[in-house]
Amino acid sequence: MSDKHYSFFGSVEKSFNKAAKYTSWDKGILEQIKECNAVYQMRFPVKRDDGSIEVIEAYRVQHSHHKTPCKGGIRFAAEVNQDEVMALAALMTYKCAIVNVPFGGAKGGIRVNPRSYSAYELEKITRRYTAELIKKNFIGPGTDVPAPDYGTGEREMAWILDTYCAMHPGEIDAAGCVTGKPITQGGVRGRREATGLGVFFGLREVCNMPDIMKKLGMTIGVEGKRVVVQGLGNVGYHSAKFFQDAGAIIIGLAEYEGSIWSDKGLDVDEVFNHRKKTGSILNYPGANNFAKNTDALEMECDILIPAALENVINGENAPRVKAKLIGEAANGPLTPEADEVFAQKGIVVVPDMYLNAGGVTVSYFEWLKNLSHVRYGRMEKRFNENMNSQILGQIEGLTGRRVSEKDREYITHGADEVDLVYSGLEETMINATHEIMNCWLSNPEIPDMRTAAYVVAINKVGTSYAELGIFP
Ligand code: NAD
Repeated sequence: MSDKHYSFFGSVEKSFNKAAKYTSWDKGILEQIKECNAVYQMRFPVKRDDGSIEVIEAYRVQHSHHKTPCKGGIRFAAEVNQDEVMALAALMTYKCAIVNVPFGGAKGGIRVNPRSYSAYELEKITRRYTAELIKKNFIGPGTDVPAPDYGTGEREMAWILDTYCAMHPGEIDAAGCVTGKPITQGGVRGRREATGLGVFFGLREVCNMPDIMKKLGMTIGVEGKRVVVQGLGNVGYHSAKFFQDAGAIIIGLAEYEGSIWSDKGLDVDEVFNHRKKTGSILNYPGANNFAKNTDALEMECDILIPAALENVINGENAPRVKAKLIGEAANGPLTPEADEVFAQKGIVVVPDMYLNAGGVTVSYFEWLKNLSHVRYGRMEKRFNENMNSQILGQIEGLTGRRVSEKDREYITHGADEVDLVYSGLEETMINATHEIMNCWLSNPEIPDMRTAAYVVAINKVGTSYAELGIFP
């Protein structure tokens, strides 16, 4: 399926160069923005459950130090390599800039297929990886803050935190060394679903733009849109779920073992449970199996959301893709060759580095929570509820009318942590969508939304570097 000699970092560089032409930064600054500042490649041994010793290959790349700490997830996958981690770290820099999260970009990767290791082995690998990061000062609340990515989740983040704390006794801000933690370990409510919710908010905003919808021959709004999602992991599951809850019809779902479709729509939770029970997405009652799992990508639909891995839509299969709008929930699912095909076909691609920024945005909220040592809403929730009750009581007294119990609950409710996180994320995604769209629509030469997103990112990082000056 892959394009020959495909380099993910090369493809990020290609998109960067395409966008740099629409900025006025000098060559040196552009070079500094583009390069990876630090690449840490490591090897360490792990004793497998059968007693054998295996040498593990792992990476942490800090793409940019224009703001610290650096931030980016840790991926566990059999295909992890330096080129991939460098590309993902670079995307993090641009992503943070676009959503105004004050971090530099980073990424980590361990070359293991997590399905082939026991939980105990994975714990040993994660803890040893963390120890290696500590040795080289590649982790810490003020230096570099990892998060979950493909193949990792709350469990791994808790192991990282515990290892860090054990080696930094008494460090008061230690919880800020990693995000995506369980709530009981300093995590924030809403982080688990944040990336999928951000994907939904971003695409909903695009679907609410009359000019874009007209161009695509689509009606305004999300309701009734026919959606296909590839990957039913953290990002894909939540993206699909939020679309379904908003009235969209999920007509296709793809996993690595196969894919299914139904014109009537698939219930995301039921498919998820079917897969949990049977070990496969296939043979879901009432749905049809596709012959190949990649066939789902070529289905006739309104919105296609690749949410698994990079390079799944490339020069080879892009001409067969029939979606009108593509939302890159995964990082790098389209190659530059696919971009060219879609630009020609008039398909709008909503780019990864902004669309899946919900994760890092809420990670930023989690980090702020850890540094402030207080749960969001703790100080003001009750105060606001009392105040709202008072105001409502006064209005009811003056008008002689009583609002319904449902409205009373809504009006008097004081925001708790998850309300604030969702609202902060919604605001962030809406602002970012408009900033990128304004850039795209204000310059007719900019060919696509990805290039516009890069222009916005380059200008922000460029300004930051220009203001920092050059350290002699
Ligand atoms: P995950 O491990 O939770 O889920 C990925 C899913 O994709 C798994 O269920 C896997 O079986 C499936 N998959 C793998 N290969 C497939 C294939 N060929 N066809 C169909 N399905 C396939 O990972 P995730 O955290 O959801 O990450 C998915 C993508 O989103 C990655 O590109 C990641 O970098 C990106 N991303 C994740 C986050 C986050 O917060 N987790 C944030 C931003 C971007």
